[in-house]
Amino acid sequence: MAKEQGQPIIVWLRHDLRLDDNPALAHAAESGRPVIPLFILADANAPVRPYGSAHKWWLHHSLKELSASFGKLGSRLVLRRGDAFAVLEDILSKSGATAVYINRRYGPEASRVDGELESRFNCVDIQCFEAALLHDPDQVKTGSGGYYKVYTPFMKSVSAGLHSYRHPIDPPSGLAAPEHFPLSESLDTWGLLPTNPNWAKGFQSEWIPGETGAQERLSYFCDELLAGYEEGRNKPSEDLTSRLSPHLHFGEVSALRALTTAEETAHRRKSIPDNDRQTFRRELIWRDFNHHLLYHFQNLATDNFNHRFNALKWREATGDLKAWQTGRTGYPIVDAGMRQLWQMGWMHNRVRMIVGSFLTKDLLIDWREGEAWFWDTLVDGDEANNTSQWQWIAGTGADAQPFFRIFNPIKQSQDFDPEGDYIRSFVPELSKLPAKAIHAPWEADGATLDEAGVTLGETYPRPIVDHKEARDRANAAFQATR
Ligand code: FAD
Repeated sequence: MAKEQGQPIIVWLRHDLRLDDNPALAHAAESGRPVIPLFILADANAPVRPYGSAHKWWLHHSLKELSASFGKLGSRLVLRRGDAFAVLEDILSKSGATAVYINRRYGPEASRVDGELESRFNCVDIQCFEAALLHDPDQVKTGSGGYYKVYTPFMKSVSAGLHSYRHPIDPPSGLAAPEHFPLSESLDTWGLLPTNPNWAKGFQSEWIPGETGAQERLSYFCDELLAGYEEGRNKPSEDLTSRLSPHLHFGEVSALRALTTAEETAHRRKSIPDNDRQTFRRELIWRDFNHHLLYHFQNLATDNFNHRFNALKWREATGDLKAWQTGRTGYPIVDAGMRQLWQMGWMHNRVRMIVGSFLTKDLLIDWREGEAWFWDTLVDGDEANNTSQWQWIAGTGADAQPFFRIFNPIKQSQDFDPEGDYIRSFVPELSKLPAKAIHAPWEADGATLDEAGVTLGETYPRPIVDHKEARDRANAAFQATR
């Protein structure tokens, strides 16, 4: 025991790039032993899903900030690239560390790697903590001992135990340093930022990756946007949601901290309506639900949750897929969403549903194509949320309702972007169209189009499918799997 006092603990950080409410780090700090904070960039051939391109941009900035934060604590974030086991073995042997502390991951490959740690390093003290979710997936069970496959009963079940959340843990005030820090690589040599072309130019003005950015956004959201959130979250043209998703994905803020801050703000400022507070809580619970689904159904990213839909005949339509990816389908709300994604690395939730329905129903293209594109282009691309939500919108998921979830892109556009402001922000070639024409420009008369400088098929595409025909085709294809 006395000997252990001086032996370092490695805190291996992954989706928990923060000091605040970080149980693995807090327990290591409390021990008084030297701490080696470590981040490992997995090899391209590692058994975990590689980062998407937009993730890499985010990760670069997030790690840069985290390194500075550890510096302020008198510590150092060690950056290494390679096979995780080989890196750990090297650091364990060279630093004399006798313990590795981690926060738990839920994806299939990641949890397999974490599960193997004890057998690989059997003389090392491996300690695993809960940090990412509000509810441990092993603890939430249905009456018959299974897991929830539908959100509403899941939400009702977990809501009963809300009072029992632990309090978020404050960041450590200092960290004991080892005699020598292990060798660290330079972040700049990792080539995480796009250069030629720099397609992430637009991200810089939209986001502040890192823990400080996460905390600032959380405070701003709670102070300015929480009141009115329930209604505001359905207006894609305005910045009325928390935009915490990439921060939560990279673990720059914990879901527990986000929830607690929102609840405390609502408690303090009585003017925040209860429905707004509750809606935000429900969204964070959706996030938990998706993680629980992934944890219990580990092939969520690749297999239809409902096997019935394995028989579905998806279309192979490269041209249509490309039109969708590049925002050139001829449906303004869909194109605006896909261009927002490209410009910001993020898309409003309502529009994610619209473009998801359009891909899987109107174009009858496999949801896995959409999931992969989102994974590569979203800064918040998340193994649990992305796969679960794609299956949800495709209707192949846990609560399969493919026939009800065929969104009419024109009606959605009229309902959720009535003045066309969202469309105008991202599809400038339509910006001069009046509200009544902007949702379906092919229905506008020639004079209106001329006045707005729109020539269909030239300045803006004609629709690549007719929605009514496409809806019937999708219905028939889904029906055929019965
Ligand atoms: P807010 O409205 O402020 O919500 C707060 C938080 O709650 C979010 O940050 C998020 O963590 C969680 N949340 C909100 N809505 C959902 C939801 N429907 N499912 C799960 N969690 C939710 N979210 C991701 O984080 N990563 C993804 O890869 C992702 N892919 C999606 C793909 C499709 C097809 C669809 C329809 C939705 C997807 N979502 C994904 C869910 C949702 O669109 C985003 O979480 C939300 O738009 C993020 O913006 P926000 O942080 O401002 O959300």
